[in-house]
Amino acid sequence: MTRLVVVGGGISGLAAAWFGAEAGFTVTVLEGSPELGGKLRVGELAGHRVDVGAEAMLTVRPEGVDLLTAAGLAGERIAPTTISAGLRVQGRLRPLPARTMLGVPASVAAVREAGVLSAAGLTALEAEPALPPLPPLEDDAAVGTLVRERMGAEVVERLVEPLLGGVYAGRADALSVRATMPALAERLRAGGSLTSAAQAVTDTGARARTESVFTSVRGGLGRLPQALAGSGRFAVRTGVTVREIRRKPSGFALECGAVPASELVEADAVVVAVPAGKAARLLHALAPIAAAELSGVETASMAIVSFAFAGVALPQGSGLLVAGDERLATKAITLTSQKWPIETHGLTLLRASVGRVGETAALQLPDDELVALVRRELHPLLGIDAEPRDVLVTRWGGGLPQYAVGHVERIARVRAALAAVPGLAGCGAVFDGVGIPACVGSARAAVDQVVASLAVRGQ
Ligand SMILES: Cc1cc2nc3c(=O)[nH]c(=O)nc-3n(C[C@H](O)[C@H](O)[C@H](O)COP(=O)(O)OP(=O)(O)OC[C@H]3O[C@@H](n4cnc5c(N)ncnc54)[C@H](O)[C@@H]3O)c2cc1C
Repeated sequence: MTRLVVVGGGISGLAAAWFGAEAGFTVTVLEGSPELGGKLRVGELAGHRVDVGAEAMLTVRPEGVDLLTAAGLAGERIAPTTISAGLRVQGRLRPLPARTMLGVPASVAAVREAGVLSAAGLTALEAEPALPPLPPLEDDAAVGTLVRERMGAEVVERLVEPLLGGVYAGRADALSVRATMPALAERLRAGGSLTSAAQAVTDTGARARTESVFTSVRGGLGRLPQALAGSGRFAVRTGVTVREIRRKPSGFALECGAVPASELVEADAVVVAVPAGKAARLLHALAPIAAAELSGVETASMAIVSFAFAGVALPQGSGLLVAGDERLATKAITLTSQKWPIETHGLTLLRASVGRVGETAALQLPDDELVALVRRELHPLLGIDAEPRDVLVTRWGGGLPQYAVGHVERIARVRAALAAVPGLAGCGAVFDGVGIPACVGSARAAVDQVVASLAVRGQ
């Protein structure tokens, strides 16, 4: 049996362990913190189990749902009761327009109907299809620049910033079209109109869809890590931080734990499944080019402030996003008890997201002041000024990698540098997308890479 050690017990590492066991490896996951799951985590709020990290998984890519099913959670899946959301724009709550590609409108009529743009903003958007066609998109570009030039600044501030920002906690002017909207970038390789390209992408997605776009699990998506680990297919050690990975004549030695009590773990193959900055530190001697590339990836920090209220009335829908120019610390709110079919015994559960790349002032506040700030904003956003029954603050320092212009090429260089070391591969949120299905996909690719490279070495 060949020993595979996976560094990092987030969803990427656990998926790699799962696929590694399937491929016939004897697998051990080394997780530095006391708990498995990374950004998939369940917390307790007024006696209810709630997700305090990722809370919904896209079903349009199969990898996440397939893994849920393999882990035995298919029967526990839940779909949102509603996916209609609001958009806070110009101090008012409007419906989030239907048919956008991460905020890039595919339907001018839907944006008009939602009333989120000014008359001038709408005119700029309406004019886009008749502008001289875009030249073929051969190089990467910033989403904000591309959309502003074609559709006007309001579309960027009021639609793209909140939607794209909701996924990456990033700024449209820095995020890469190729990395954050690969299907749109692919369409734009032929040039033409941005509205038509967004239309083609959203039409294809809608045709392929047979179920709700999102799924979760009763009791929290954060149950998935335990379900995977509980399968017994691989070993898990928590509280074991890997400090360095060294190459040996055959295989690897991983130095774990703090110096005088450090421990060496031996492996024939290693999958590194930790965030970019940490991966860079682990790989600096083994794969210096990969390490240098990974250390160049910026991250955004966030906090999730979860509340339980009794006897409050909410606007309809699953939640709301906040336009980029609203000057609020709160970027998005999920109306948890309204979005998911869960029993909350009459309590209203909701969670607010705070923080975006470069916006750290609110995150530097101590918990009580952060809660007070969000509570002050809940009034204009939702009309809530009641005393909460319970509050939970969860901080995600450096929680989301930023896919800057050129990210796809950067990751190709990382993969090439890792592939030069037989038996070594990497996966995680920095690779092919931050969403859970993309993380799972990157884990599959990492295991495939390790299998292929060991087969070559064995020849
Ligand atoms: C607030 C928030 C909300 C989100 N919401 C959603 C959502 O609704 N849907 C969605 O699809 N995605 C969502 N995401 C994104 C998604 O959750 C993450 O991209 C994904 O969970 C990352 O998984 P990962 O395994 O790559 O990394 P992580 O979850 O960061 O796991 C890495 C693990 O490695 C461990 N580790 C680090 N260094 C070492 C070391 N040296 N030795 C050993 N272990 C180490 C860490 O402790 C951690 O457990 C959200 C992200 C955040 C921050």
